[in-house]
Amino acid sequence: MSHSTSRTHFINSLADNLSTLRAQGLYKPERVIASRQGAEVTCDDGRHLINLCANNYLGLSGDESMVQASIAATEKFGYGLSSVRFICGTQTVHKELEKAIAGFLGTEDCILYAAAFDANGGVFEPLFDENDAIISDALNHASIIDGIRLCKAERFRYTHNDMADLETQLQAAAGKRHRIIVTDGVFSMDGTIAQLDRICDLADQYDALVMIDECHASGFMGKTGRGTHEHHHVMGRIDIITGTLGKALGGAMGGFTAGRKEVIDTLRQKSRPYLFSNTLAPSIAGASLSVLQRLAASTELRDRLQANTEHFRHDIAALGFTIKPGTHPVVPVMLFDAHIAQQFAARLYELGVLVTGFFYPVVPMGQARVRVQLSAAHTTEQLNTALNAFAQAGRELKLIK
Ligand SMILES: *Cc1c(COP(=O)(O)O)cnc(C)c1O
Repeated sequence: MSHSTSRTHFINSLADNLSTLRAQGLYKPERVIASRQGAEVTCDDGRHLINLCANNYLGLSGDESMVQASIAATEKFGYGLSSVRFICGTQTVHKELEKAIAGFLGTEDCILYAAAFDANGGVFEPLFDENDAIISDALNHASIIDGIRLCKAERFRYTHNDMADLETQLQAAAGKRHRIIVTDGVFSMDGTIAQLDRICDLADQYDALVMIDECHASGFMGKTGRGTHEHHHVMGRIDIITGTLGKALGGAMGGFTAGRKEVIDTLRQKSRPYLFSNTLAPSIAGASLSVLQRLAASTELRDRLQANTEHFRHDIAALGFTIKPGTHPVVPVMLFDAHIAQQFAARLYELGVLVTGFFYPVVPMGQARVRVQLSAAHTTEQLNTALNAFAQAGRELKLIK
């Protein structure tokens, strides 16, 4: 095959695969937003919508305070560093942010990454090898799965949120040198909160470490927003915490790993996404630091998020919709059928509400839904307007009476 024929064949085969995705209704188009992120957004077609599908839990993403904090950090520290951390990419603001995150989470130390995907991708390989066991919840985030793949440790997978199976896997891993249980603190498709109290008890019983990914928890879970470990009263019993600066804690980007200083120091020496990728922009580091200072001073934002969550969960159920029960600001409104979930989301868009339909393979077959995510930035009026739109679309599609 000549060079150009091979290239033509390659491009054609990609085009075929993309057509198949479209035909199966599995192609993911991207909504284009023409405004700041927030409780309301304007799309590129000029529509104003109430936004119920951002991970903007504390409402900070488009908030003026964040814009000002990032400008202030940019003024002081410049636009970027053109360096990885260990060469000449560490500024005082990065050290202060690491200290603030560690303090907030109740750990000794913390290391920053460009994303939580990198934090998870770079956490296992430096710390564990073929003598060790990683025991992972079956529904853990893709970045945890990829991180485990990069590590030589033996892999054990337990049925999602199933403590009996976790115990079975701990027993199976008993012969290994070190064992670590790994779980999302909160699972984002269902809003399920990991049973960290029971997980920590099992870890003690079977001499295992515990790692949690707090991307859907840091900043608002628990009484003072420290996370799932605070929610379950196990602060101090978690060995490794990974998380993102790209959701509740400001919404730009950036990730971190927190834990004992020996763990963090080892990652600084050996973690590949840290060693071989650029330092976090000073604007993000400075603005993230301002978020942590704000959260340490007041629980106002997480309290408002909780009130909004309770309001929405109560009223959407009262309308007759089926939701996954729980307390998390992720509220899956179950529609079961993929086609109906798409129709429902499309109708809500026309009615001025932005939600996304999720269906197989993102969620199990027959479990299609729209996933609502509440924010501290939503006003009661916005939530009530959205609830009215749910009611109207639900009646039109004969989902509720
Ligand atoms: C969003 C998410 C990530 C990735 O976070 P980024 O900072 O955007 O890379 C990792 N883990 C979980 C559980 C997430 O929800």
